[in-house]
Amino acid sequence: MKNNINYILQKSINSHNLDEKEILLLLKTKSIKKLTSSADMIRKKYLGDEVHLRALIEFSNYCKQNCLYCGLQKTNLKLDRYRIKEQDIINLAKQAKNYGYKTVVLQSGEDPYYTIKKMVYIISEIKKLDLAITLSIGEKTFNEYKSYRQAGADRYLLRIETTDEKLYNKLNPGMNLKNRMQCLENIKKSGFEVGSGIMVGLPGQTLESIAKDIIYLKSIPVAMAGIGPFIYNPDTSISHLEKINKNNHFDLSLKVMAILRLIMPDINIPATTAMETLNHNGRLIALQSGANVVMPNATETIYRKKYEIYPGKICLNDSPEHCRTCIESKIKSIGRFISKSKGFHNSNVAI
Ligand code: SAH
Repeated sequence: MKNNINYILQKSINSHNLDEKEILLLLKTKSIKKLTSSADMIRKKYLGDEVHLRALIEFSNYCKQNCLYCGLQKTNLKLDRYRIKEQDIINLAKQAKNYGYKTVVLQSGEDPYYTIKKMVYIISEIKKLDLAITLSIGEKTFNEYKSYRQAGADRYLLRIETTDEKLYNKLNPGMNLKNRMQCLENIKKSGFEVGSGIMVGLPGQTLESIAKDIIYLKSIPVAMAGIGPFIYNPDTSISHLEKINKNNHFDLSLKVMAILRLIMPDINIPATTAMETLNHNGRLIALQSGANVVMPNATETIYRKKYEIYPGKICLNDSPEHCRTCIESKIKSIGRFISKSKGFHNSNVAI
């Protein structure tokens, strides 16, 4: 009885609590539809039909780190590097505001060009536009996080990627899991809404470790959880690993999202771009499996091809304006609507 999927789903719907073993059974289930529709129901109950849009500005692809899976890794000499100047980043945020976005996400590799002073300037100028700001710029010192927060940034997104310590340390040379966890602790202490998440399908990753990742995300607890399938990038040093799982991890990623929705009913969960890379309807399917956020690309077309974390990224030839209109009609086509609020986690209606 207790190992029965229906029993576990009912338990999660009633209590939003599952232990590691139960999560593992859900990760293994073939009844994916049951799982995703339960998550969709919980999303509707707690958050309604609104979808929050976050305009993604990919402002630099320079990175001092060497994460084996990521196209921005510093040893990828094939990548044509760019960085957008401070004033131009601010202008992109203004443009995003004009398209009706309420939040901008500033994302980059770990690029030392953007000193605290430069970031504080960018953040405080964008703040004047009455936009919510999410940062996704990697591992920083406590002091840096505090300065960004004081300058007006609202949320910080730092995926833990995997909580399997051996795997993390192998995939992220020169970095380590404990420090990344400490960064997330510091982000929280600085007063940010904490966003984290994982990649699904990393070489060497097990379902058991994904179950632990889910428990970890709940323990923080995150206000936002971004889940993306790992997509093999042949230009990265991961190609030297013996065992690379090049399977399509779409369904498993959906399951992870759905489980997160069941146990954290009111958090923000984006339907990630990587999902759409694997399935041309990926973001809509994710929105119907627990997700409630979409992050359309608001980077100018000329830079998009260069922000190649993984191959096959969507919308490479599209303009920010096109992405805005396109996503709106997609969202409406499934009976959902775009929120007019900034979509903070603490303003989500929990019942
Ligand atoms: N430097 C920032 C932003 C990193 S890029 C940071 O460290 O947080 C944003 C995310 O892209 C990463 O957190 C990772 O989860 C994802 N990513 C990197 N390589 C990928 C790949 N090959 N396939 C899918 N997602 C990938």
